[in-house]
Amino acid sequence: MMSFIGPASILAKRAEYFFPATGHFYKNPPQIVKGYMQYLFDEQNKRYTDLYAGVSVVNCGHSNPEIAKKTNEQVNDLQHTTTLYLTQPMVELAEKLAQILPGDIARTFFCVTGSEANEGAMALARLFTRKQGFIALKGGLHGRTHLTLSVTGIPMWRLDNQLVQEHIYFIDRPHSVEISTQEAMTQSLEQLEMILKKHGDNIAAMIVEPIQGNGGIIMYPEEYLKKVQELLAAYQVLLIVDEVQTGYGRTGKMFAVEHYGVVPDIIVTAKALGNGIPISTFSTRSEIAEAFTKPSASTFGGNPVAAQTALNVLQYMEKNYLVKQAQELGDYLKKKLQQIDSPFIQEIRGTGLMIGVQIQSPDPLITSAERTDEILEKLKDAGYLIGKNGLNRDVLALQPPLVITKEDIDSFLACLEKVL
Ligand code: PMP
Repeated sequence: MMSFIGPASILAKRAEYFFPATGHFYKNPPQIVKGYMQYLFDEQNKRYTDLYAGVSVVNCGHSNPEIAKKTNEQVNDLQHTTTLYLTQPMVELAEKLAQILPGDIARTFFCVTGSEANEGAMALARLFTRKQGFIALKGGLHGRTHLTLSVTGIPMWRLDNQLVQEHIYFIDRPHSVEISTQEAMTQSLEQLEMILKKHGDNIAAMIVEPIQGNGGIIMYPEEYLKKVQELLAAYQVLLIVDEVQTGYGRTGKMFAVEHYGVVPDIIVTAKALGNGIPISTFSTRSEIAEAFTKPSASTFGGNPVAAQTALNVLQYMEKNYLVKQAQELGDYLKKKLQQIDSPFIQEIRGTGLMIGVQIQSPDPLITSAERTDEILEKLKDAGYLIGKNGLNRDVLALQPPLVITKEDIDSFLACLEKVL
């Protein structure tokens, strides 16, 4: 049994050996030492119900025994070779993805992180269209490489002042607290059309999350992406959908873009595909894939451990109806949240098990972000871990493992109501 150094030592070592950029949740954070399905355990063996899933990653549960057993077998048999050698799991995974990805999207490039996959998707769009620029939504987040940061529309995550500005265009998202969603959508589409009219002949793609995660769980009106795609098509601009956070059942559909009845040109996934083992993808239809001919390889992309794990994740999701479960439990969670009467709740957003609770602070001396932190801390003390996001860091993020139960949700809701 490993001995635990405890939260104080970890904080001290982080302060000494990490960069100040590395943040953490909570004034008094626990040391997390174990996970089992929807639960996490700290160094004192206190159990927490996890409603954040490591930012939408562990959809099948922490150290899911069925999946972990097969991952361990793969580690023992063959861990790594690169795409230069022929291995089986990665082609079987690519084949499986072709079956479940929307429309005629059937070709996949494997990499490791969401940022890397978005970067690849953007490069692919440039190769295919032979154009240069990108359009993105304010409030979107797409990664931490130079180009993906450059299309990230959340000021706090835009790392430096030297990001790409030329040929990058931001438009408003179709959501606002000041005007109606319909008006916000009209404005957003007008901005898009104006940019396309002026610069469309040198724009390769527009990149969007189908539901903004970090931006505060912002879902768009049902017809928004269809209208976006119509406008883009008129200027031969591709639509890249970033499903890094929403993919693989999270929102009650296999992919969140299905809520809008749209098939994107390129789709990017990561996080939940490996249930904690790093793997990411960008996928497209054959016509676009044909443009990607220059040699390219990600050292760890599609490695046997990640690819085999992903296959087992998809099999586990199917066998346990996790997409349906996300929709049903998500509907239940959202309905129950709407019944909570609290001056701190401004709005409840999202779908499936991707729900955001916009917090407000009626007391002018306390900011909504401080309120949010207080709620997170009290929930943690009571044994519930939730996330937070939003442009002002004042949105409670409820994105539990999809294997959570109704009983877990009921006890969480009772606790949240008390905390509020
Ligand atoms: N896209 C979205 C929508 C994300 O939420 C994230 C990470 N939270 C990324 C891209 C970047 O992924 P990664 O951290 O794996 O590079």
